[in-house]
Amino acid sequence: MEKISVNKEIKVALAGNPNSGKTSIFNALTGAHQRVANFPGVTVEKRTGRRRYNGYNFQFVDLPGTYNLSAFSPDEKVARDFIINENPDLIINVIDSGSLERGLYLTMQLIEMGVDVVIDLNMWDEAKESGLEIDTQKLALLLGAPVVKTIGNRGQGIDGLLDAAVGLVENKDKGHRHPPVTYGPKLDDIVADLSQEISSCGSCRACRNPRWVAVRMLEGDKDIEGEILTHNRNRARVRSRLGQSIKHIRTTTKNDPEFALTEGRYGYVAGVVREVVKRPTSDRMQLSVYIDNLLTHRFWGYPIFLLLMWLIFQATFKIGAYPMDWINAGASWLQAEIGSLIPAGIISDLLINGVLGGVGAVAVFLPNIVILFLGIALLEDSGYMARAAFLMDRLMHYLGLHGKSFIPLLMGFGCNVPAIMATRTLESRRDRILTVMLIPMMSCSARLPVYVLFAGAFFGAHAGNAIFSLYLFGVAAAILMARLLQKTLLRTAETPFVMELPPYRWPTWKSIVIHMWERTRIYLNKMGGVILIASVILWGLGNFPVKKEFSQDYDAQIAQYSSQNTPEAKAEINRLQILKSSEKLEYSLIGRLGHATLPAVQPLGFTWEMGISIITGFVAKEVVVSTMGVLYHLGDETSTLIKTL
Ligand code: GDP
Ligand code: MG
Repeated sequence: MEKISVNKEIKVALAGNPNSGKTSIFNALTGAHQRVANFPGVTVEKRTGRRRYNGYNFQFVDLPGTYNLSAFSPDEKVARDFIINENPDLIINVIDSGSLERGLYLTMQLIEMGVDVVIDLNMWDEAKESGLEIDTQKLALLLGAPVVKTIGNRGQGIDGLLDAAVGLVENKDKGHRHPPVTYGPKLDDIVADLSQEISSCGSCRACRNPRWVAVRMLEGDKDIEGEILTHNRNRARVRSRLGQSIKHIRTTTKNDPEFALTEGRYGYVAGVVREVVKRPTSDRMQLSVYIDNLLTHRFWGYPIFLLLMWLIFQATFKIGAYPMDWINAGASWLQAEIGSLIPAGIISDLLINGVLGGVGAVAVFLPNIVILFLGIALLEDSGYMARAAFLMDRLMHYLGLHGKSFIPLLMGFGCNVPAIMATRTLESRRDRILTVMLIPMMSCSARLPVYVLFAGAFFGAHAGNAIFSLYLFGVAAAILMARLLQKTLLRTAETPFVMELPPYRWPTWKSIVIHMWERTRIYLNKMGGVILIASVILWGLGNFPVKKEFSQDYDAQIAQYSSQNTPEAKAEINRLQILKSSEKLEYSLIGRLGHATLPAVQPLGFTWEMGISIITGFVAKEVVVSTMGVLYHLGDETSTLIKTL
């Protein structure tokens, strides 16, 4: 029989532990491309997506991954507030079947909050492979919630989830009751008494779910307590009962109530797991432990880590050099094409040197970035990144950072642009900011030509040592800076951070490509926006005001020489062009800025030429060398420049 299209809205939130595959399920449900990560807490923003199914309009929200709903961390707070305030029709609770205990610990809290839950046993493929057996029917019975098996990254079992959701909504009036979570006889009585006291008010919001409120208050949740003690009509009695209960728990269990309740919850979960799981001694776990022992070994862990970093570094900058050449060639070709299509003048100069020159200078890093992100995605999805972070953690703690910041910092030696982009993989905002501030101290490869120039000019035979010290100096400056910032601007404590060690997995291409693309896209967006505008502005500064009168008539002379086709004539044209650009640059706003900075740079022994070069260096470090070449009328041959300086 044809179903009448009811067009009913169903609001669904996805909740679960980090790495349980929530985002994969979300993608499979909505078809939306999302960032898929393999590290705790990446999904900090709320993301939504839609899906029509059986005449229903589903609206999905991917909540941040959490182990708890106690609102200690921002992620937990986001998840909990959403459930309380937005009142989703139901929650799909995504659980990694391989870590059922940890998953169910969250499930207990969801059930306690009284929301309708569909249990999604995800990563069923892995569970099956490792020989794990879960009695899903029994689990559904014990929890009073439908249980569905899925394989999120391959989109299997998704219809089952949707059917279960529709089933829950269509039978809403039947009032699906979850059997109450128990904390053991002693605590259960206390919780029951307190919740009865709370619900006797009968009118405040907490009365809808007194049991959960009672547990939260016993656990010392000040938010909830504050709300009850202002809105509940029996607040005086609730308050005194709460005090008594806490005292009672302390004396009988010799522990804080929070601890006692956590323990009780774990006990309950352990009981459920014992009922439904048959676990063989798994080879995969054995293998994982063995690999872990090697990769996080106190001695061998480091060379392995350095080798992998070296490989990524090499791939990023060596392999990346080929497409880099192609992009350079493409840009030059475009510049030439535009030059021949549009008559010479301000517009063509803007397009060729401003837009293409500026954006091109950044676009050449695109291959580096794609390769770097491919490497990072591989490390993340295979599970190695978590081990590497674990390994580098102690070192990085000295800088007030976590192990994960090591990779962006290291990448900084190659190029600061992708390095700063790589900080996107850090979860904490403070860590991101601190890492981004340290990266510029790492001497990127574009600085090398500048180092070679000056070290060659001033240190002669000792140039090599001088350059090496510059690198060391950068690192030392970064350490100092980190220590300083830690004590001043970025003093907020390091977020305590449980290092999750996810099992090793073969990364899937789909997930890798999505990862890589998501990050690359952000880089492309920047290129089309900020960088485009900045290049046009810098071009403007270098070209205005327009110089009309030169000290000699360069154009006429150039025209004269270009009719001759001798090497001498070519050299002469080149010399004239450099002289002309030099005059033009000095006259322009950048030139004037260079002169204006003289008082600031003179004490350093700098000339105005150097002042100007520093300013043009804002676009790209290596431009410093070519600007000096122009200003000293020498072209950009480093060897001749070294002699002159
Ligand atoms: P989230 O942190 O909960 O959002 O988890 P993600 O969706 O980012 O998934 C973490 C990793 O597990 C990714 O590498 C996924 O490709 C992978 N994954 C997700 N679901 C499954 C599954 O059912 N089976 C397997 N083998 N891997 C999965
Ligand atoms: Mg996620």
